[in-house]
Amino acid sequence: MTATRVLVLNSGSSSVKYQLLDMRDSSRLAVGLVERIGEETSRLKHTPLTGGGAESREREEPMADHEAALRAVADELAADGLGLDSPELAAIGHRVVHGGLKFTEPTVIDDAVLKEIERLVPVAPLHNPANITGIRTAQALRPDLPQVAVFDTAFHTTMPESAARYALDVKTADEHRVRRYGFHGTSHAYVSRKTAQLLGKAPEDVNVIVLHLGNGASASAVRGGRCVDTSMGLTPLEGLVMGTRSGDMDPAVIFHLARVGGMSIDEIDILLNKKSGLIGLCGDNDMREIRRRIDAGDQEAALAFEIYIHRLKKYIGAYYAVLGRVDAVAFTAGVGENAAPVREAAVVGLEELGLAVDGALNSVRSDEARLISPEYARVAVAVVPTDEELEIADQTYALVSDRNA
Ligand code: ADP
Repeated sequence: MTATRVLVLNSGSSSVKYQLLDMRDSSRLAVGLVERIGEETSRLKHTPLTGGGAESREREEPMADHEAALRAVADELAADGLGLDSPELAAIGHRVVHGGLKFTEPTVIDDAVLKEIERLVPVAPLHNPANITGIRTAQALRPDLPQVAVFDTAFHTTMPESAARYALDVKTADEHRVRRYGFHGTSHAYVSRKTAQLLGKAPEDVNVIVLHLGNGASASAVRGGRCVDTSMGLTPLEGLVMGTRSGDMDPAVIFHLARVGGMSIDEIDILLNKKSGLIGLCGDNDMREIRRRIDAGDQEAALAFEIYIHRLKKYIGAYYAVLGRVDAVAFTAGVGENAAPVREAAVVGLEELGLAVDGALNSVRSDEARLISPEYARVAVAVVPTDEELEIADQTYALVSDRNA
């Protein structure tokens, strides 16, 4: 029997998201999520998708660590006849946030690879440790199975030095590996490729600006299928205004808050990553709630929205200049896929650049990739739902099938 299933694991510090896919037709066999790992109130929500209906099962019981969580996931999968011991399971694909400069491709994990991911913990202290725990636990459950790391940074490793380097003293920057790495790469790769497909062209022939607007948000400039610039930097803090992150700021704000405001570095870190962006500006980070407040006449929410859009427009303009010629602007992730007012506001006034949105097309709700620009527009504006799990599964499966071929 050929093994055609891939389990995708996205391990966070206190959560694990998973999907089991059948790569013959890219269908989902099961999806689920474990939250609050390490707390008394850990919760597993598992949805098998094989039996026609999608009846979820929930378990609420203490899961002390990632190993307990993954064992519970394995039990749930086994109860549906999809156990991790199945010979049909070809590989486990792990989302790994930071791959530094070394990992430009999905990589089969061995001891040396795991060591290198560990070496990157200082530049990704919030993310890589959880990813490593997920990998080790999955290895313990299925030591014989190929485990593949798919890096959030990989797609951005094609950025030229002119975009990737900060204008910092080179020796200091290199010593501490300070440079722009970019994140959400799996999504930017998937969406830029899908956008080319939507235009009926090969990825090599199109230039795309991808706007990944979720709770975290980033933009990228993709020339002929290769990333040439992206808005996140050493960490995911740089760039766009996000749900809870400030994005771009004068770095001297940090000195000021430390010297004049008496804040510690950790306090400033939390302020900029967790208490800024939309939530810092208006107390809400959910775009649905912000739009509701604007509709009710709330000035604070309206200003937060304007600041969000102003930054987004600046990046569209900047990446237009970086690319020279733009074939499409693609909106994706929670806000990009669902918030028509964001898409409209981001493009309004850019007609001279060939950008426009058709009101009727923009207001259609759909899960499909679609164009929302009018026929006459020189640049296509698209909504392209992202699918990071499918991209991770595809990359993982391609790698292990190649190895077995
Ligand atoms: P992440 O993966 O970064 O957590 P998502 O891509 O799932 O985020 O996006 C989550 C965000 O999407 C929410 O915070 C919310 O602001 C936004 N969102 C989801 N649905 C809608 C909607 N119908 N209208 C506007 N915004 C939405």
